[in-house]
Amino acid sequence: MEKSNGLRVILFPSPLQGCINPMIQLAKILYSRGFSVTVIHTRFNAPKSSNHPLFNFLEIEDSLSEADTRNHDINLMLTLLNQRCESPFRDCLTKLLQSSETGEEKQRISCLIDDSQWIFTQPLANSLNLPRLALIATKVSFFLGHFVLPKLRRERYLPLQDSERDDPVEEFWPHRKKDINRLLDEESEILDEYLNQNYETSKASSGLIFMSCEELDQDSLAQTRKEFQIPIFAIGPSHTRFSASSSSLLTQDETCIPWLDQQEDKSVIYVSFGSLVPISESELLEMAWGLINSDQPFLWVIRVGSVNGSKWIEDMPEELMERINKKGKIVKWAPQQEVLKHRAIGGYLTHNGWNSTVESICEGVPMICLPYFWDQMLNARFVSEVWRVGLHLENRIERNEIERAIKRLLLETEGEAIRERMELLKEKVGRSVKENGLAYQSLEHLVDYISSF
Ligand code: UDP
Repeated sequence: MEKSNGLRVILFPSPLQGCINPMIQLAKILYSRGFSVTVIHTRFNAPKSSNHPLFNFLEIEDSLSEADTRNHDINLMLTLLNQRCESPFRDCLTKLLQSSETGEEKQRISCLIDDSQWIFTQPLANSLNLPRLALIATKVSFFLGHFVLPKLRRERYLPLQDSERDDPVEEFWPHRKKDINRLLDEESEILDEYLNQNYETSKASSGLIFMSCEELDQDSLAQTRKEFQIPIFAIGPSHTRFSASSSSLLTQDETCIPWLDQQEDKSVIYVSFGSLVPISESELLEMAWGLINSDQPFLWVIRVGSVNGSKWIEDMPEELMERINKKGKIVKWAPQQEVLKHRAIGGYLTHNGWNSTVESICEGVPMICLPYFWDQMLNARFVSEVWRVGLHLENRIERNEIERAIKRLLLETEGEAIRERMELLKEKVGRSVKENGLAYQSLEHLVDYISSF
C-alpha cells in the first residue's frame, strides 16, 4: 500500500464470479493507491476473506435458500437479491458511517462503489449523503444498449421469420435479430421494470466505472458520456494489474499447468463456459466428440453441477473417457488467466463472458464463440465480426461443427490471419493499460475523483 490517504471506500459486489473478480481487482488497485477498503458482501458466494487480509469484510444476510442459489434464472436471482439485501445492507452501511464519525480510527468514508446490478443502493446513498459509483462488469456497448430491451419487447420482436434471422439490429448493434430473440426469449417481463430502474439509478450515480477501454469501446463510451452526463471511467481490463485468482470462488486445479508444459506451442484448445452456463448431456457428448475428432490436445473445464441432470461427468461412457484422456484433460475449475498466458494455448472455445473475453484478448488467444445468454451474444459478435479475432459457432453445438472450427482456427491459413489480428488488438489494449495509455489515465482520474469527495 502507498501511504494511507486517510480515506476509506466501501465496496459491495454482486455475488457472481464474473462480478466479484473485477470488484476485488478494483479493491486491490484502490488499496495500492492509499485507500482503506471495506467489502460488504452477501452470505451467498461470499468472497474468501482469508485471501485478502488487508481488507475489512462484512457479511450481510441475504436469506437465500439452497434452492434459490441453485436457480439458473439469473434475473430471478437478481430480483430476489435486491429485495432481500436492501434492509440488511442499509443497517450495515448506516452503522459503518456512524462509527466512522464517532470511532477512534477517524477515517472518512469517501464513497460507496457497488455493482450496477444493485438498484436500491442509489436512493440509499442519496439519503445518507454518500457519493455512489457503479461498477459495470459488462462491455460498455452492452450496458448502453441493453436498456433498449423493454422497447424491443413492446414492439413485439417475436416471432421471427427465417429470412430475417441474420439481419442487423440498429438499436443494439452489432447484434443480429436472432441474438435479440434469444435475449428476449430467455428474459421475462420482470426484467423490463428492473432495467428501467437500473437506468435511472445509474444515471443518478456519481459516476460509472467500466473494465473496458477506449480501444475496445470508443463509440459506446462517447455515447454513454453524452447520454448519462456523469463522469465515466474506462480503466481497462483490471486483471492486467492484479490477477483474479485470489477472488476465485472455486478451487483452481493447478495440475493443468504441468500438463500444458508437455504440449507443443499454440496447439491446445482451452474450453470453458465460465461460472454460470449450464449444458445438456447431449451438448456435452457433441463437444467431447468434436474435441476428440479435431485431434488437437484440449484442456476442458467442466464445473461440478454444470451438466443438467448429472453431478459431474459420471455418466460419460467409459470408452469416450478413454479417448478423452488420450488427447485431453478435464478439470473442474482452472487457473484461467495462467492457462490463457501459457505458450501451449492456441485457441479458446468460450461462452464469451466479458471477463473471459478480455482475458483472452490480453493474452492474444483467438476464440471460438459459443455464447449462451445475456451479454455473451454481443461480445461474441464483436469478437467474430467487428474485431474478427475469432470464429462464431452460431449455436451449432454439433461434433462436426466443433471439429471444423478447431481445425480452421489452429491449422489453417484463416486461423493465421485471425491470430495476426488478435496480436494487434492485444498490443492496442496492452498499450492502453500501460503508463500514459488511455485506460491508465482514466484510472488516474478515477483515483483523483474519489479522493476529492
Ligand atoms: N474462471 C476461472 N476458472 C475457470 C473458469 C473461469 O478462474 O475455470 C474465471 C475467469 O478467469 C473469469 C471469471 O471466472 O475471470 C468468469 O467471468 P466471465 O465474465 O467470463 O463469465 P461468467 O462466469 O460471469 O459467465
